[in-house]
Amino acid sequence: MASAPSPFVVGLTGGIGSGKSAVAERFAARGAAVVDTDAIAHALTGPGGAAMAAIGAAFGSGVVRADGALDRPAMRRLAFADPAARQRLEAILHPLIRAESDRQAKTTADHPYVLLVVPLLVESGTYRERCQRILVVDCPEAVQIARVMARNGLAEAEVRAILAAQASRAERLAAADDVIVNDGALEALEPRIDALDRDYRRLAAALAGDNRGRLHGTC
Ligand code: ADP
Repeated sequence: MASAPSPFVVGLTGGIGSGKSAVAERFAARGAAVVDTDAIAHALTGPGGAAMAAIGAAFGSGVVRADGALDRPAMRRLAFADPAARQRLEAILHPLIRAESDRQAKTTADHPYVLLVVPLLVESGTYRERCQRILVVDCPEAVQIARVMARNGLAEAEVRAILAAQASRAERLAAADDVIVNDGALEALEPRIDALDRDYRRLAAALAGDNRGRLHGTC
């Protein structure tokens, strides 16, 4: 039996506070299927989340809250202090996140395309391979820092430490097929998102046509 044609996947990335969630919301409003790897990671590490047994076994009860969820500040301290701990955490989480994002991406047949939101997409070869197109949300670092300080109540030095662990703006822009510059009012994004949504629908339709062509060719 022929499997369903692969969906057209746009990988959406950007540094912390660049505006990925704000942009993803606007694509969703236009009909894109949004698969958010951050939301998946949160669910996996929430109360009763599928990663919690392995995390508890690897790091002990000190990183597990009374309700069974990951104690994020405790885990963050551990991972920042000890790169091996961070790698162990990633070894537990990444395969689960990939499997769940694959599962979600396959249940999107009634959407024109999939927007796969991956904060560290440029840093990760496996996600790059899975995207037909890479869309980067970009803004100056000073704007990122101000937004994350306001959103998360973090000190400037804490935000700078997170930025230092991510790809640079230049690295991200070098990997981009498309860029959304999010340095003004959110309303100013609408025409750009309209244009990209039109492009992605067209490309997705062309890919679906190709898949059908290949299927006929092999019958
Ligand atoms: P990311 O998902 O990339 O970390 P968000 O979409 O959560 O970033 O945006 C970070 C914060 O900045 C949020 O509180 C969001 O509402 C706000 N924000 C994003 N873009 C703008 C903008 N153009 N103008 C004002 N606030 C913005």
